[in-house]
Amino acid sequence: MFGDNRVKEIELEDGTKIKTDGVFVAQGVAGSTDFAKKLGALTSKDRIIVNEKMETNVDGLYACGDCTGGLLQVSKAVYEGAIAGLEAIRKC
Ligand SMILES: Cc1cc2nc3c(=O)[nH]c(=O)nc-3n(C[C@H](O)[C@H](O)[C@H](O)COP(=O)(O)OP(=O)(O)OC[C@H]3O[C@@H](n4cnc5c(N)ncnc54)[C@H](O)[C@@H]3O)c2cc1C
Repeated sequence: MFGDNRVKEIELEDGTKIKTDGVFVAQGVAGSTDFAKKLGALTSKDRIIVNEKMETNVDGLYACGDCTGGLLQVSKAVYEGAIAGLEAIRKC
């Protein structure tokens, strides 16, 4: 990486250089699917299986956002979170 106060250029392993306005550093994080599996939730290819109400197979356990797969965007996570929240309230 090259730059003074911020990264202005990166060099790939093959020597290719790419100009950039900045970089995201993404180190490994705990996967939510591992946690869900421990709770007994069914998963498929690292995504938690949910129905249209964002319910997992475990009663009272909901999943939403990236962990349910599909479009990995904030808008989808917020939409599914709203559904899960409302469904949880209805169930109380
Ligand atoms: C570099 C980058 C750029 C992006 N840019 C955009 C963009 O421009 N627009 C856009 O719409 N989307 C963008 N996204 C995608 C967006 O960030 C995700 O879709 C969104 O954050 C998903 O929200 P989420 O709540 O499902 O998951 P997350 O935001 O990942 O939140 C999940 C949280 O759960 C925590 N967690 C997981 N497992 C455990 C556990 N076992 N115990 C405790 N905590 C746990 C995690 O630490 C994390 O804080 C980008 C993603 C990346 C990586």
